[in-house]
Amino acid sequence: MDDDDLAARLKAFEGRRATVAGRGKDPVNLPMIRHWCEAMGDTNPAYTGPDAIAPPTMLQAWTMGGLSGHTSRTRAYDDLLALLDEAGCTSVVATDCEQEYPRPLRPGDEITFDTVIESVSARKTTRLGTGYFVTTRTDIRAGGELAGTHRFRILKYAPRKDAPARGPEEPRPAERRPRAVVNRDNAGFWEGVARHELLIQRCTGCRALRFPWLPGCHACGSPDWDTVRALGDGTVFSYVVLHHPPFPAFDPPYAVGLIELAEGVRIVSNVIGVPYDEVRIGMPVRLEFRRYDEELVLPVFRAAGEAA
Ligand code: ZN
Repeated sequence: MDDDDLAARLKAFEGRRATVAGRGKDPVNLPMIRHWCEAMGDTNPAYTGPDAIAPPTMLQAWTMGGLSGHTSRTRAYDDLLALLDEAGCTSVVATDCEQEYPRPLRPGDEITFDTVIESVSARKTTRLGTGYFVTTRTDIRAGGELAGTHRFRILKYAPRKDAPARGPEEPRPAERRPRAVVNRDNAGFWEGVARHELLIQRCTGCRALRFPWLPGCHACGSPDWDTVRALGDGTVFSYVVLHHPPFPAFDPPYAVGLIELAEGVRIVSNVIGVPYDEVRIGMPVRLEFRRYDEELVLPVFRAAGEAA
């Protein structure tokens, strides 16, 4: 099978249905909601009481088939994965998930769902290896009305052979830090970083600050927010020293700090300006922005009193 032939066979999967008229194994129900909220530590009052709704991010839970699976699954997705296996793309990693919630789900709702193979990318070369991104879209309905959309993306790839085979005397390939995944929920944060501003989200309903960036307020549930710019002072709240596993672009041992900003929120970052074994809890640190390569700038924290 040559590359063009493979590309055409992969493209032919786009639009094929992976699940047809699936039905939730249980109606939306309070016990599952309660277990979810306990596991997630989510105490939002919207999920309890007589007018409870289901947490929107539970969307996929209502479609899960459990050990016995769903009979509504077609062969399409398995056939696509088998074709990719045959082409040498035997490894898989889930890359990201996007959800939309046009209408809340409530206890008693009986859900139905359909899954389509939405896209198969052209061949891409990533740090993990060369392969194809496969995106499925599941539309979840309640009473025939669209309640949520769940897009799930995997990378099916042939693992790189060069990395483990490289001898110690051979030059290392250019190793760059991994890129952040920028999405609709956190784009504003990265835009701030590009301007050398560390932006904290602030709920415009109850004024609670939150970090990292999330679509809703953990305190009151409001989706409305603005930002405040961190002044840059912080302290090391906790830290770990990484020795293993080795990872490209990082040179162990190094300290990863959980920094408590003066504003009260915490951020994971590197502590610079002191040896890794001199980082201590309570150490005052100061924000700065460090450029790692031509496109990557990250907020880092310098031990206070250390000259830049
Ligand atoms: Zn709030």
